[in-house]
Amino acid sequence: MPAITVDNLLALPLIPQPDPAVSRERPVRSVTTAPHGLEGEGFPVRRAFAGVDMSQLDPFVHLDQMGEVEYAPGEPKGTPWHPHRGFETVTYMIDGEMAHQDSNGGGGLITNGDTQWMTAGAGILHIETPPEHLVLSGGLFHGFQLWVNLPRDKKWSPPRYQDIRGREVGLLSSYDGGALVRVIAGELAGQAGPGSTYTPITLVHATISAGAELVLPWRPDFNALVYALGGTGSVGSGRQPLRAGQLAVYGPGDTLRVRADANQESRSPDLDVLVLGGLPIREPVAWGGPFVMNTKAEVLQAFQDFHAGRLGSVPAEHASS
Ligand code: MN
Repeated sequence: MPAITVDNLLALPLIPQPDPAVSRERPVRSVTTAPHGLEGEGFPVRRAFAGVDMSQLDPFVHLDQMGEVEYAPGEPKGTPWHPHRGFETVTYMIDGEMAHQDSNGGGGLITNGDTQWMTAGAGILHIETPPEHLVLSGGLFHGFQLWVNLPRDKKWSPPRYQDIRGREVGLLSSYDGGALVRVIAGELAGQAGPGSTYTPITLVHATISAGAELVLPWRPDFNALVYALGGTGSVGSGRQPLRAGQLAVYGPGDTLRVRADANQESRSPDLDVLVLGGLPIREPVAWGGPFVMNTKAEVLQAFQDFHAGRLGSVPAEHASS
């Protein structure tokens, strides 16, 4: 996993050890296993949130781990042009490259720990594809896409695109240098990430060395989720097992604990996790296909608006692709 790495973790700001006298550790409510699926033109994903009640995920609605997959030449796949309304997509690439283009003029190429943040808001069309040279060569693809919900009064915001380079993320180390913590969005232990969100969230990619433990301070008004991208370990003080493709949902408190097993498979020598949480929106969620609204009528309206061309139009030079 390349993303962003650091030679001397102890040269980074250290996350202080929580004081057990005043902090309350979050218990683990559930660990679930993400089923495999196919997205877009047929690229393999794991549906991280499958089987978890949406109230536990709020303000997030969807998380797909893309790959990891080793493509043969000619095999890499993307998505066709498609619409969204009512939320934001956050795409993070660890291995491989993904090109993005949208009907609002946003777009770019992301790789090695880069993030693209697309606010669909009132409506947008976009396409996500591997670049031509990678389609020809094949290779390793690994990343994720997260959907962050918007509250009712922000669903009609104008579309927006943020291109975040991997080197811009906020970097922290666990107090003993056993874990590298990349803050992609929000704030953690005084370190801010570059992603700007309408809905307050913290989004972190942490690499925990074999045998190391990571204890993070976590805002008590945020929910707390840990998804394992690679490796094996455990969560909580009870050390409930967690391996690649599993999601842990934590209960209330102000710190959370993740530990990497001492023995890891050679192809994934560390435990890599996404740690995410946000301020719950607590509004009804009506989710239909690419639209996340408050009511079924609003979802139907979104389909009608899409078919009438009111969510934008495909840029002319790509209309035939
Ligand atoms: Mn999309």
